[in-house]
Amino acid sequence: MLESSRYSGDNRLLGEVLMIYQQPLPSPYPALDAAALTERILAAKAKLGDQAVVLTHHYQRPEIVALGDMRGDSLKLAQFAASQEKAKYIVYCGVHFMAESADILKRGQQVVVLPDMGAGCDMADMADSDDVELAWDELVGVLGHESIMPVTYINSTAALKAFVGRKGGVVCTSSNAENIVRWSLEQRKALFFFPDQHLGRNTCKRLGFTPESMVLWKPGVPLGGQAPERLKDSRIFLWQGHCPVHAMFTLKQIHVLRSENPDIKIITHPECPMEVVDASDAVGSTEFIVKTIAESAAGSHWAVGTEMNLVNRIAQENPTKKIVSLNRFMCLCGTMNRIDLAHLAWAMDSIVAGQPVNVITVGEPQRSLARASLDRMLQMS
Ligand code: SF4
Repeated sequence: MLESSRYSGDNRLLGEVLMIYQQPLPSPYPALDAAALTERILAAKAKLGDQAVVLTHHYQRPEIVALGDMRGDSLKLAQFAASQEKAKYIVYCGVHFMAESADILKRGQQVVVLPDMGAGCDMADMADSDDVELAWDELVGVLGHESIMPVTYINSTAALKAFVGRKGGVVCTSSNAENIVRWSLEQRKALFFFPDQHLGRNTCKRLGFTPESMVLWKPGVPLGGQAPERLKDSRIFLWQGHCPVHAMFTLKQIHVLRSENPDIKIITHPECPMEVVDASDAVGSTEFIVKTIAESAAGSHWAVGTEMNLVNRIAQENPTKKIVSLNRFMCLCGTMNRIDLAHLAWAMDSIVAGQPVNVITVGEPQRSLARASLDRMLQMS
């Protein structure tokens, strides 16, 4: 029998408190308007030149993207920063796990700065590494073997990537998940996929597994809330995490839009629930969504199932096409949008002053272990 104290969640709470701590912005930033803040950021960029690179994720606010040196998904941005030989500072306009990945993949002594420490990721926070360790021990205890491949989506903490690295597992992205999962199941009998149940389920379904054959592991509950017999019967274990932004898309929205617009095409991200993905015309990563719509014919009509800042930008960049959100009441990713002009100006000025704030550092041995799980993926890509 497992001790109930192992399920207390105390460590997770402490981690959350530490991660969301962001000191109030000092004067004069809160009082400056957008024009003054933009001027300050441009002045700092001019002073730093190629010593600093500003990365902006696809889901960032438009005014932040306009000031960036590179826009993209988390892996592309981290790799771009590492390729910049002269860039001593990486200013990451994204969320915490992305800045961690940039720190893990960085070149030499580069310094990674996250303008607002409150920019976390709800999905990444759903897979606390202590809970994962506990789940792993329990699953191994029931299966009676260690032949389980841990795979984590890149949208996860460095601590989880390190756990996966230590167990010989691998990271995946939404672009390469299918290849990585296929490879994993060739290496070992079973797969434990973290932290996004939807990406895991959608990927395994494409590989021929039925949804009923997959086990959903509830964190914080003994044996993930499953009977031992059920665990013994399965090869696919999905951590019960999700992205609150992509969970907002439903099958009903697709039915309503299609009934009103017979010509409309539905394109969604694989972080969406399975029934939404199954009913879509196209499914893929943010880069895939951007490219597919850009290459579609003038006059095309698309409903897009992903974050709202990106949907708005795609609409702006494709003026000859009609682009709407799949969810007409869609919200932004709240944590991603914590990065604003005031925090970026503060972060840039701190670098110019030689005292960078909000430096993200992944310590050893976590860095090397997390790097191993990322390198395994990069070797296969
Ligand atoms: S959109 Fe979802 S997965 Fe991406 S940063 Fe926001 S909460 Fe995390």
